[in-house]
Amino acid sequence: MLFRSRFMPCQECGASVDRTDLPTHECSPQRWADYQAFGLRDEIAELEAGIGRYLATASGRFETWLAARQVHGQA
Ligand SMILES: [Zn+2]
Repeated sequence: MLFRSRFMPCQECGASVDRTDLPTHECSPQRWADYQAFGLRDEIAELEAGIGRYLATASGRFETWLAARQVHGQA
């Protein structure tokens, strides 16, 4: 059972830490930096996916249409 595992991932650095050691666990700075950067990559990927989803929505299409119309209007 996952939740009965003796080890749980540290929220800060992602290391598997024995539950009983978690209160005294100290994150390795290198591991912490890697884990935080990895989390950030996920957020950036999610943001890009969100922009893609937005552009696929009606208002995104409207803005695309509006932008195209403005370009053609000036021509
Ligand atoms: Zn840690």
